[in-house]
Amino acid sequence: MSIQQRFQPLLMQRKQEDLYRSRPLVTSAQSTHMQINGLNVINFSSNDYLGLANHPQIKHALIQALQTKDTSYGSGAAHLITGHHLPHHLAEDGLADWLEAERALLFSTGYMANLAVQQALMQANDIILADKLCHASLIDGAQQSAATLKRYPHNDIKALERRLKQSKETQKERGGEILIVTDGVFSMDGDIAPLKEIQALVHQYQAWLLVDDAHGFGVLGQQGRGCFEHLGLTPDENTILVGTLGKAFGCSGAFVAGSTTLIEALIQLARPYIYTTAMPPLNAIAILEALKLVQNAHASRETLTQHIQQFRTGALQIGLTLIDSPTPIQAIILKQSHTAIAWSEHLKQQGFWATAIRPPTVPKNQARLRITLSAQHNTKDITQLLNALKNCQIDL
Ligand SMILES: *Cc1c(COP(=O)(O)O)cnc(C)c1O
Repeated sequence: MSIQQRFQPLLMQRKQEDLYRSRPLVTSAQSTHMQINGLNVINFSSNDYLGLANHPQIKHALIQALQTKDTSYGSGAAHLITGHHLPHHLAEDGLADWLEAERALLFSTGYMANLAVQQALMQANDIILADKLCHASLIDGAQQSAATLKRYPHNDIKALERRLKQSKETQKERGGEILIVTDGVFSMDGDIAPLKEIQALVHQYQAWLLVDDAHGFGVLGQQGRGCFEHLGLTPDENTILVGTLGKAFGCSGAFVAGSTTLIEALIQLARPYIYTTAMPPLNAIAILEALKLVQNAHASRETLTQHIQQFRTGALQIGLTLIDSPTPIQAIILKQSHTAIAWSEHLKQQGFWATAIRPPTVPKNQARLRITLSAQHNTKDITQLLNALKNCQIDL
């Protein structure tokens, strides 16, 4: 069978089911006002929560760095060969200090960090208990590890405890560790994991905890330290934090933060860390500059909170169904994929970019518009979006 014979029917079927995906072409800088597929739109789809992706201070730091003789664009090799440059090292130290963790380790992407952690740490006889709505990279990481993966219903503490009990029972004879895996802020729903209750279970059952706070870092907490700070908690010694640097940080890449032993184990064992070229040192310089901005972004975080308030109040007033979320990720549930696409298209015609999210990214019948707010938006942008959403209700 040729590639054509195998995949042509599959592609056709996806089109018929309104599930076909394509890549909108961006011809302006990342911002709240941009040009996408030739349209000038107000952008409500990016994860650039603090507006750092095109920040002049970061650009300036990069231009300056390129003019010195000690900075190259490319890293030249993997970290364990000759690719671990001073800016990488400084970025790791800076991230660890900020989070009050012993160490941090940079990865080229969050996807790779999540593969790395679970593949390196988990062994046969270990059990991974993951929230049903975890990011795809966490699920892929769990499946590629030697451990057994079990899912628990979203944010359901009772169900998690039942699975912990069962797992302890199974492990009585054969031994092994349990790792609980959750997003901090859930990427498609915007709600926050009940980390206080999860931490209590972690202690009670002596489990380990992996929290991927890709959408919490920079956004939540007084210092932007994410979900733990937001909830008044401190990660303990068997907690592994994953953060990405392509969202609120406006750069790219990711980090794992935790104990020295955790980080050293990853350096020794994690294949997605070892067998890949280190990110460009220039990106690490951008990360360091972004970190300074994130630490001082109190005003932006306050603005974001006001935007979230404005959007939720307005959307509920016109009768939209929102997922209960205190974060910049605001999901409008429209159920059918074709409805979500129709709304997204109608918004485009009115000058707004809001992505329709469909299965398999979200469960069946849960197709939605995923609105993301940025501190860079202004009050008028959000008022206009709400008017455009009202038009969708009337016209569709
Ligand atoms: C975006 C995201 C990732 C992937 O990070 P990349 O750096 O984009 O590969 C992982 N986990 C969560 C929860 C995310 O939202």
